[in-house]
Amino acid sequence: MKFRSAIFIVVIFTIVGCSTIGIKLNSDPDNADKTALLYKELIEGKSPNTAQLNLFFSKMPKGGDLHNHYSGSIYAETYLDWVEVAGYWIDKNTLNISKAKTNSSISVDQLRSDTRLYRKLLTLWSDKDYQNHYHPQLPPDASFFNTFSYFGPISKRYNEGLMILRERAIKENVSFIEIMLKSVGYSYPDTSFDQKIRKAAGNKAVLLLLDKLSSKIDADDTFNNKVYEFIKTIDNAHKGIDDDQFMMRYQTYASRNSSPSIVFSALYSAFKAVEQSDLLVGVNIVGPENGVVAIEDYNLHMQMFAYLKKKFPNVNRALHAGELTLGMVRPKNLKFHISQAIYIAGAQRIGHGVDLPYEEEALNLLKEIKEKSVVEICFTSNEFILGVKGRDHPYLIYSAYDVPIVICTDDSGISRNNLTGEYVLLAARYKPGYKMVKKYVYNSIKYSFLYESDKDLLTNSLDVRFEKFEAEMSEYSDLILRNVDE
Ligand SMILES: [Zn+2]
Repeated sequence: MKFRSAIFIVVIFTIVGCSTIGIKLNSDPDNADKTALLYKELIEGKSPNTAQLNLFFSKMPKGGDLHNHYSGSIYAETYLDWVEVAGYWIDKNTLNISKAKTNSSISVDQLRSDTRLYRKLLTLWSDKDYQNHYHPQLPPDASFFNTFSYFGPISKRYNEGLMILRERAIKENVSFIEIMLKSVGYSYPDTSFDQKIRKAAGNKAVLLLLDKLSSKIDADDTFNNKVYEFIKTIDNAHKGIDDDQFMMRYQTYASRNSSPSIVFSALYSAFKAVEQSDLLVGVNIVGPENGVVAIEDYNLHMQMFAYLKKKFPNVNRALHAGELTLGMVRPKNLKFHISQAIYIAGAQRIGHGVDLPYEEEALNLLKEIKEKSVVEICFTSNEFILGVKGRDHPYLIYSAYDVPIVICTDDSGISRNNLTGEYVLLAARYKPGYKMVKKYVYNSIKYSFLYESDKDLLTNSLDVRFEKFEAEMSEYSDLILRNVDE
């Protein structure tokens, strides 16, 4: 048994052991009922009590966050701290990081003392103030993806960043994060392959071409070295992260807006790395799904996943799919992304799945997702990047069909949200019952890519946390409901 697991069991055993001196192991039904009643009170009416819901969900154990990106989860203010520590500068015209001093660069200190410029930087490095006042800006999706180019040069302080995310998670009662940390960084560009495979897209010749490129990659001296170095980077980044109250695991990925040989070599190295590391638990594909290449090569990318799924059957796959809506792309491109991710790529989890209502065979697809996959719902992200919210969001369809759902943050630094806020949106907009909310929380462990033994530990930990939460909320409800009566 791993040391970490042993600590977890001791903690749970210590709490469970208390049952002999009066603390019950199972959730107290009275407390659970009172918590459910309190929650019902908070969501009832046209205007749910969002302040109270914020308190309620801040306290509530939320299990895991299964869809989030490392560099998009760090706040711009933290990145500025890092720019200062690194001795870098900020260009006052472009607000880019400048590694050397130039005529137009200023120190972070100077920037902070210039309120106008400082606030402007926050609007460029995150979604801050996008909606609430007029200023020259890119369209929301472009503005979102553009933020990465600002903080990219300073974001690679992985251990430091992960420690910040860990502390933030613990403070809002989140016990697990499955995070997209970075790509392996391996690439095998091959223009002749690119031309041939694009012609072959959709038929079996693709597999032959992928086989050939795989052999070339395997024979490349730098390949295994890159994978080895990457795993070492993950191991170092992970130091001090896991303990008796928190765990983190990692996904790696390819970006979907490069040429086929670059996408495939990135995916191939990702699958290889995940196969060799206990900390790496799955492969994803990232980047704007409406990008020119992403749209053109979508089917080809799904075939790449299908090929790699066969070659690496033990590697998990979570795919961004259907992060699109009407008007963003031509209608024909809304018809098949989720279904190909499920049927061809064998995605065990779907990131977003927002264009579901436009899918060719949406009803059959829903049955398939319910059986074989899980949908990662990110309300704030969908509202900002796609403009899809409220009654337009397919959450309503997924929940009606009882499709397994997990609630996630996506990019909490850029969006300046947290998992608590996502649950508040869920409750205020859609008013699911307390039992359903709890189900989503337990789903976040059940459908994670953790080992079964780790899932058991985290599920047991959730039981204990909910018992404590419901006892607290029961007491709180006495106060709140009494005040309502008076
Ligand atoms: Zn995402």
